[in-house]
Amino acid sequence: MVKDTKLYDTLGVSPDATENELKKAYRKLALKYHPDKNPNAGDKFKDISHAYEILSDSEKRATYDRFGEEGLSGDGMSGMGAEDLFSSFFGDAFGFGSQRRSRPQKGKDMVHTIKVSLEELYNGTTKKLSLLKNVVCSSCEGRGGKEGSVKKCTTCDGTGIKLVIHRIGPMIQQMQQTCPDCNGEGSIIKEKDRCKVCKGKKVVKEKKILEVFVDKGMVDQQKITFSGEADQQPGITPGDIHIILEEREHPRFKRKGSDLYYEAKIDLLTALTGGEFSIKHLDDRYLKVTIIPGEIIKNGETKCITGEGMPTYRRPFDKGNLIINFEVEFPDASWYTPEKASLLETALPSRKQDSIPKDAIVDEVTLSDVDTSRNRSGDRYARRDDMDEEQPGVQCATQ
Ligand SMILES: [Zn+2]
Ligand SMILES: [Zn+2]
Repeated sequence: MVKDTKLYDTLGVSPDATENELKKAYRKLALKYHPDKNPNAGDKFKDISHAYEILSDSEKRATYDRFGEEGLSGDGMSGMGAEDLFSSFFGDAFGFGSQRRSRPQKGKDMVHTIKVSLEELYNGTTKKLSLLKNVVCSSCEGRGGKEGSVKKCTTCDGTGIKLVIHRIGPMIQQMQQTCPDCNGEGSIIKEKDRCKVCKGKKVVKEKKILEVFVDKGMVDQQKITFSGEADQQPGITPGDIHIILEEREHPRFKRKGSDLYYEAKIDLLTALTGGEFSIKHLDDRYLKVTIIPGEIIKNGETKCITGEGMPTYRRPFDKGNLIINFEVEFPDASWYTPEKASLLETALPSRKQDSIPKDAIVDEVTLSDVDTSRNRSGDRYARRDDMDEEQPGVQCATQ
């Protein structure tokens, strides 16, 4: 006699049903009430799975027979969910796996980086990315072999997991291992029945070309996602491919947010009396910049051109500013003649009066060029060396 027949009733079998009869009953009912087939069945599918999970386990069944459900520890579905039980019972071969809703499994995402120039981010472009990915074999429709050739692995009973019992003295430890016979697949195909195209692997490598639309104003490290384009695997929703943009350094412009920075070199005469200079922009336009006479540009001064920076992502007509840092180029020593000097003498503001206290001790000295090679160890000159790299010839000269 059993204490309670509820679980047997759920499966529609008698308490002395054999293992085989239980299996048959579960198979019939689970297929009938699976939420994909019968969405209005409510908890019926779960109840069936719950009953079968307990009754198919001889230890749990014995406990249930003696003590009823109270005798079973835990809250019903102890190890697996109803869907897991279902798929481990029927395997992927049945084809319900791909429609599973309650716990959708998703494949791994893939990440690729593509380098883009500032011009491409300014104007927008389409980049083609070719990649190799796994796709479900079309020859066998992802079964791995002829229809009906896919057999449930008997070693692991289709679960892909083998339970190994370790005994260490009085301790019994149960460990899970990937089933060695089916490599965790839960199913086995005989060598001769294997699909010739994928060799039973269910997937094949395929070259795929992705068209990546780089929109105007996109930024460094921006992510463009192609959902569901990663490796395919039967019964699993493929993951996404993420494309990460990597902005290349530009020889003329630096970008900070939507602003562009530009170093303009102008000659001393233009700086003092006005004139024009040009900037080749990222869309090959030339900006003709006028320095109005009397504006007077000092060396290192910063000015700005409104609306000539980078376009904003999704609002391409909304542009940042172009910020110009000026370097005024002085003529070199060969320019000098006493005549030109006296012309300047009359044109430029008069000299600053230098004031040495009357009673100071005075030494007369002249200037010589700094020899950078001899003073590398000195902290002060080391710093000058750094500046030297950015502005060659401006700070120091060798003799
Ligand atoms: Zn195949
Ligand atoms: Zn197996």
